[in-house]
Amino acid sequence: MEDIARFIEMQNNSENIVFFGGAGVSTESGIPDFRSKDGLYNQHDVQFDKYRPEYLLSHSCLITEPKVYFEFHRQKMDTRAIEPNKAHKYLAKLEEIGKLKAVVTQNIDGLHQKAGSKKVFEIHGSALRNYCSRCNKIYPYDYIFESKEPIPTCECGGVIRPDITLYEEGLPEDAVRGAIKALSEADMLIIGGTSLTVYPAASFINYFNGKYLVIINESELGIKEGVNTLIIRKKIGEVFAEAAKAQGMDIE
Ligand code: NAD
Repeated sequence: MEDIARFIEMQNNSENIVFFGGAGVSTESGIPDFRSKDGLYNQHDVQFDKYRPEYLLSHSCLITEPKVYFEFHRQKMDTRAIEPNKAHKYLAKLEEIGKLKAVVTQNIDGLHQKAGSKKVFEIHGSALRNYCSRCNKIYPYDYIFESKEPIPTCECGGVIRPDITLYEEGLPEDAVRGAIKALSEADMLIIGGTSLTVYPAASFINYFNGKYLVIINESELGIKEGVNTLIIRKKIGEVFAEAAKAQGMDIE
């Protein structure tokens, strides 16, 4: 049976589908991922070339070189004008019809919610939320991008930072708890657009104990195809668009 037909048959035999994804879900919206050939790790930018990408996204950089941190954040993490693609829209539709119970995402771009998804566990936080690292005061979602101060500062004197999980920091507990519960209750798991190399996030898929596993990822993830495991090595937006068409779902 061809891939799309198998994918739909698995959905038809499932009541509780969960999606686990990463940066590859948003590449078709124009946001580079990290590790693809056009990804952030392979872009050369004289201003940031002397730094390792992991450093620019680390707690150490925020603390020791905040000007560099915020310059990088403003240049590379501003996704406010970006629109969701067919991958985000298809998942929102699957939730609307009651099949999909949760999206677990490593992304910080808010595009699942922009597409209409309601139950989204953002296990690396969101660049659309900001708070003061001293007094915890919440700041509007575009505060850091709009601020003219090189280091955005709260009235209490603390540094205002995005609510994202940087390297060396712990993951948000509520999102992690919700994600683990959703994954452990799912009977079908769709993994897409992630290299599964960022830990501990990638290890959460081990909580899945259901019937069907579907991987939609352009690069190889080292998971073997089987009777109940379907691997599709294509662009996720294109795969979902094809599935939507076959299911008579409107995701325009
Ligand atoms: P990654 O860059 O390590 O891997 C992306 C994977 O997606 C690759 O395997 C690639 O082959 C695949 N891919 C890319 N485009 C695809 C497409 N259209 N269809 C199918 N597969 C596609 O990303 P990751 O695993 O998410 O880990 C990196 C970390 O980067 C995460 O923690 C995430 O927070 C962060 N990040 C987020 C964003 C965002 O919010 N949009 C962007 C870049 C990085």
